[in-house]
Amino acid sequence: MSGATSISYDDVVAWINAFAASVRAQKDYLTALDSAIGDADHGINMDRGMQAVIARLPGLPARDIGAAFKSVGMTLVSTVGGASGPLYGTFFLQFGMATVGRDSIGIDDVTEALDAAVAGIQRLGKAAAGDKTMLDALLPARDALHAAAQSGVPLEEAFARTVEAAEQGMVATTPLVARKGRASYLGERSAGHQDPGATSSYLLLKAAADTWFGPVGGGEPAG
Ligand code: ADP
Ligand code: MG
Repeated sequence: MSGATSISYDDVVAWINAFAASVRAQKDYLTALDSAIGDADHGINMDRGMQAVIARLPGLPARDIGAAFKSVGMTLVSTVGGASGPLYGTFFLQFGMATVGRDSIGIDDVTEALDAAVAGIQRLGKAAAGDKTMLDALLPARDALHAAAQSGVPLEEAFARTVEAAEQGMVATTPLVARKGRASYLGERSAGHQDPGATSSYLLLKAAADTWFGPVGGGEPAG
């Protein structure tokens, strides 16, 4: 859907499915990252949650984007143990609240919904930028989307910049000392490892861009 200016209900469902597939493909990697600074369950947690999410997708009332996101959020809260369940659950619940009743959303809607979703994680987890959490991918992504929306670039370019910012934020968690979550128990020893939650958050945004516009960065021009 290159050149598209809005995201449809089907696009949203495709994003959720793509994220579930990405989490499944990266399950061992996410768990390995969590074994270095946590309790080696992040990939397992996210995969369990996203499998439950996609099992429930076909039963949803069609065409309501907000209802779909709220269902994702509630399912994650109820099926994922650990910090990431309530945090990602809140992300999707807030995203859904901002898009309730909509059957398509444009760049301003997505920007507003991402704001609300990230703010929900901040309210619940009380983490700040630089604490070595998923927010270190999500905050720069949110800011990049804002800047792109304001400068009036097309949706595809806006998402490419958003994913790039998330990736840089994810990579930049490596030298950080964790100040929130289980990794903070390690103190200085948490430095030198990439944060698992920042990694899954990057995968979440990348799944959107890849699904809607084709793989970011690496794709050959068509034709
Ligand atoms: P648990 O730490 O309970 O085992 P997971 O392993 O599934 O849960 O998720 C760990 C991830 O959760 C971390 O890598 C971090 O990104 C994120 N996280 C932990 N605490 C917070 C918090 N307070 N705010 C934001 N993200 C957090
Ligand atoms: Mg863990």
